[in-house]
Amino acid sequence: MITITVAPYDPLWRLEFEKIRAELAAALGDDARIEHVGSTSVPDLAAKPTIDIDVVIAAGEFRATREKLEGIGYTHRGDYGIRGREAFHYDGKRHLMRHNLYVCASDSSELARHLALRDWLRAHDDDRDEYARVKTEGARLYPHDIDAYIAHKQAFILGIYRKVGVPCFAPKSYDGNEHFMSIALAFARRTADYGETPVGAVVVSPDGKILGHGHNRREGLRDIASHAEIEAMRNAANAVGDWRLTDCSLYVTLEPCPMCAGAIIAARVSRVFYGARDENGGAVSGNLNMFVEFGGGTEVTGGVLADECGAVLSEFFRGMRNPV
Ligand SMILES: [Zn+2]
Repeated sequence: MITITVAPYDPLWRLEFEKIRAELAAALGDDARIEHVGSTSVPDLAAKPTIDIDVVIAAGEFRATREKLEGIGYTHRGDYGIRGREAFHYDGKRHLMRHNLYVCASDSSELARHLALRDWLRAHDDDRDEYARVKTEGARLYPHDIDAYIAHKQAFILGIYRKVGVPCFAPKSYDGNEHFMSIALAFARRTADYGETPVGAVVVSPDGKILGHGHNRREGLRDIASHAEIEAMRNAANAVGDWRLTDCSLYVTLEPCPMCAGAIIAARVSRVFYGARDENGGAVSGNLNMFVEFGGGTEVTGGVLADECGAVLSEFFRGMRNPV
């Protein structure tokens, strides 16, 4: 099982990068632009000790670059769905520190994001320290779940992209609610791979930190109570050491059912945001609104990223009807 480690900054990382750069430059030519990016490139930032490297090329240079990299033991693995950024793997190379190598077109927006994040964190100590805190927290909450770890730190990274003004995947009319819902959606999408109805949820503290996430695991655990909301609230309760989630917000991609609505009320969650409506099983938008009947102070807002949340569900059920 992989364990995610966030290590204190090590000045040797810069020297390790220089070693890798020298090998790459020997193959690619001295003029090659080779950027040290990612967390190990920011002095005094705690990081997962893997060096991220972007080799920047002009249009039309990809084939020649690939051949040169293949000549020194790298294998092209494709773009993993990110346009303008091609990943390369290697075996062995025990004399070099572990690294991720990407070849990016000079106009790639992924490259622009990497550089913007690096340069911002190098220049802003407060944000650098906050990022270290978020990553350490993510590694503590999700030590064996790389997807959850990445989703946990995504909120912070998107915040920096917005400050800097680089284009990112956040919705155009960005607001905090859509942002947290998009993280709940990321968890919902993962669930579909395991044959579970794709519903995801996150619990967020009053100052905007993600305390816990959950996704529907009813089938996997054969547990009726393993709905996304309950899982997220359990994780959050573990994180804060208290079952009371007073002043917290819960984001869930589908309207809560009566069981979850009851649990949300019992946990004293202050605000609930849901995405798609559930006309058959929902406990909010139909004849019964549990939060009005029993909710005390819980505020409920529906329809946050409703189209995206609904699309994930309808795609899943379409796949169930037409198995490939
Ligand atoms: Zn439920």
